[in-house]
Amino acid sequence: MSRVVIVGGGLGGVFTAKALKGAISKGVLEVTLVTPAEFVEWPGGHIRGLAVPKEADRSFAPSVVACVKGAKVVQGKAISVTSDAVMVASNGQSEPVTVPYDLLVIATGGRYANPTTAFLKSPENATGLKERVAEMQVKSSALASAKTVTIVGGGATGIELACDICHFYPQTKVTLVSKGTIGGMYHPKVQKQIMKHLTRLPNLSIKSDTVVTPGEEPAELQADVLYYTTGFTPNTEFLQGGSLASALDARGMLKVDRDTLLVQDQSKVFAIGDIITPGLVESPFTSGYITQQEAPKLAKNLIAACSGKPLKPMGKPPSKRGGILSLGPNNGAGHFDNFVLPQCVVTMMKSKDLFRKKMIHAFQKA
Ligand SMILES: Cc1cc2nc3c(=O)[nH]c(=O)nc-3n(C[C@H](O)[C@H](O)[C@H](O)COP(=O)(O)OP(=O)(O)OC[C@H]3O[C@@H](n4cnc5c(N)ncnc54)[C@H](O)[C@@H]3O)c2cc1C
Repeated sequence: MSRVVIVGGGLGGVFTAKALKGAISKGVLEVTLVTPAEFVEWPGGHIRGLAVPKEADRSFAPSVVACVKGAKVVQGKAISVTSDAVMVASNGQSEPVTVPYDLLVIATGGRYANPTTAFLKSPENATGLKERVAEMQVKSSALASAKTVTIVGGGATGIELACDICHFYPQTKVTLVSKGTIGGMYHPKVQKQIMKHLTRLPNLSIKSDTVVTPGEEPAELQADVLYYTTGFTPNTEFLQGGSLASALDARGMLKVDRDTLLVQDQSKVFAIGDIITPGLVESPFTSGYITQQEAPKLAKNLIAACSGKPLKPMGKPPSKRGGILSLGPNNGAGHFDNFVLPQCVVTMMKSKDLFRKKMIHAFQKA
């Protein structure tokens, strides 16, 4: 029986493990998921959890073990990788645990570099559900008592955060700062829709084409609460110096064959999600949507690889460029490649709930 080890219990790792359920139950594969947390989280929902404190717990599936039934879960952080094993600093163990593999999947995602937004998505966050929700609630309370907020970063997270805060805290003065055009990565029509919405928000000030250095904010940008939604950092530090180090690019992203998700120059190591290059969507976080679509295809390739069958290409991507943005709970905008979605459709699809119900259900589905 081949041993598949998946490192990372976020979207890529969990959906890949779930798609291997049949192969596990037939005794074809033994799957081990390495993840620091006892839960699975949907980072896309945390913005609403921040703005609406009583909803801080709504972006979590409480038990990763229940989500990936059949797979073994090692709770801990991978600290290095060799050509046949992953070393894990396992929670509660003084010595690292060796987890041997025949096939390996790296799915460790990324985080924002600045500590002001680490609560959104980081392997350094609390690993128990209660503590993690409490961590979110501390951030919610700080926001609730703020009179002024500055958000640096004019991408999806900055825009969504600004819109939610302006909506739920109409008395709070919010400033959104971007070094370029706000929403400049989106289709021009979508960018216009975003700007139209933002400029109508009475408590929002916009500063485009403004560069801010953390810790050196000018007086007019100093605020009770500051969020930097800039600087994507891939969680691949543990690969430095190991057998996969040569496949890392200068930013720390893992180079893969886009067709098979095999890591460069490797025949039994795959990678999925935010850490891979080339990604399909030009945004700081590749896209949970694409990752979710690709996980079952990767699972099929893992099954093929363990029986020596040829790997199948990922096929036509659902979209190479695009995004669906919530502009507060009552508005939205988005596109897939050149297809611009009606704003009311985005509002219904995303803005009301930020996919929380849908994603938690998908994590927990049998
Ligand atoms: C605020 C925000 C909003 C977003 N909104 C959307 C949206 O609306 N739609 C959308 O499609 N996408 C959205 N995304 C992007 C989406 O969340 C990511 O694309 C998706 O989570 C990527 O999946 P992943 O498996 O690569 O990484 P993640 O889901 O981040 O999972 C990585 C996992 O690996 C773990 N890990 C890290 N290092 C180690 C280690 N050394 N050992 C073991 N485990 C480790 C982490 O703790 C984490 O659990 C959003 C992202 C953010 C931050």
